[in-house]
Amino acid sequence: MEIERLIIIGSGPAGLTAGIYGGRSQLSPLLIAGQSLGGQMALTPEVDNYPGFPDGTTGSELAQLMQKQAERFGTRVVMDQVTGVDLSVQPFAVKTYGATYQTKALIVATGASPRKLGVPGEKEFTGRGVSYCATCDGFFYTGRRVVVVGGGDAAVEEAMYLTKFATEVYLIHRRDRLRAEKVLQERAFRNEKMKFIWDSVVTEILGDENGVTGVRVKNVKTGDEFEHPTDGVFVYVGNVPNTQFLGGQLELTERGYIVTDRRCHTSVPGVFAAGDVQEWVLQQIATAVGSGAMAAMEAEKFIAELEDRAYPGRTE
Ligand code: NAP
Repeated sequence: MEIERLIIIGSGPAGLTAGIYGGRSQLSPLLIAGQSLGGQMALTPEVDNYPGFPDGTTGSELAQLMQKQAERFGTRVVMDQVTGVDLSVQPFAVKTYGATYQTKALIVATGASPRKLGVPGEKEFTGRGVSYCATCDGFFYTGRRVVVVGGGDAAVEEAMYLTKFATEVYLIHRRDRLRAEKVLQERAFRNEKMKFIWDSVVTEILGDENGVTGVRVKNVKTGDEFEHPTDGVFVYVGNVPNTQFLGGQLELTERGYIVTDRRCHTSVPGVFAAGDVQEWVLQQIATAVGSGAMAAMEAEKFIAELEDRAYPGRTE
């Protein structure tokens, strides 16, 4: 079996940037993209804070541009999903639904997925009124009522996107203050279609054979419970890292994120992590891009040393 020099898992901004830098370092990386290109970035309808786009752009456009740039430098992008890895020996093994690969170095840039609310009705009505992606499903709520759960950047940004379609957007947040950045908050408070239910959590998602009809809401300060009628529930309560496929072979934090040093090295030499899958303070496209570049440059150094050891007499 041919041994790859560098495999990158994940096609969000961290993985694609690692592809650009790894390609430019002549490593001909194999980038295993996952089910779709662009990761969470591709599901973001408006990207307003990534440098170089003064009028904003969309996440999917940014993903396509990054892919094109990585491929220009020789990175090969395959649409497949990694199911397991063996990091116990060199070369590492990477197993996907379609193939098994061997590689000298690995960059894990698998990001994070939306956290579930974990309340009755959520699973049952997912795809029938419960959604984690306003970009994908917002259009279906044209002229209808929706609620958004959460108070971070994602909840506020996606709630405002939904005001383009829905007649009313209620944001239900468990505290009396949003976590989202100030500029987003101000835009949300100015938006006439946005309404807020403070200090409250959704305890149940209600519905019938046609889908969601409402949510049961509990005020955490007073204990009062009431039903709020709605046609759709969009959940934005943070993320969980995609590290299950690693089978415990890398050191993780308590919350399941990969532990790295400042140069993206993980607990296994030759394995690097970049982007939201790292325990990272600021989860932004701009920071993911930075760590993707760092991981690729460190992988390049690792591969050079490994290949030098394999050919000790070699002089360049
Ligand atoms: P986040 O910043 O972790 O916010 C999660 C929100 O959900 C918080 O308001 C939290 O409440 C609430 N929450 C958590 N668990 C809950 C539960 N069980 N029930 C009800 N509410 C719950 O997550 P995010 O908004 O998905 O963003 C993830 C990362 O991506 C962040 O670093 C964010 O800055 C970044 N991001 C940035 C942008 C942008 O720059 N425009 C856009 C999207 C995402 P508390 O506030 O009480 O903790």
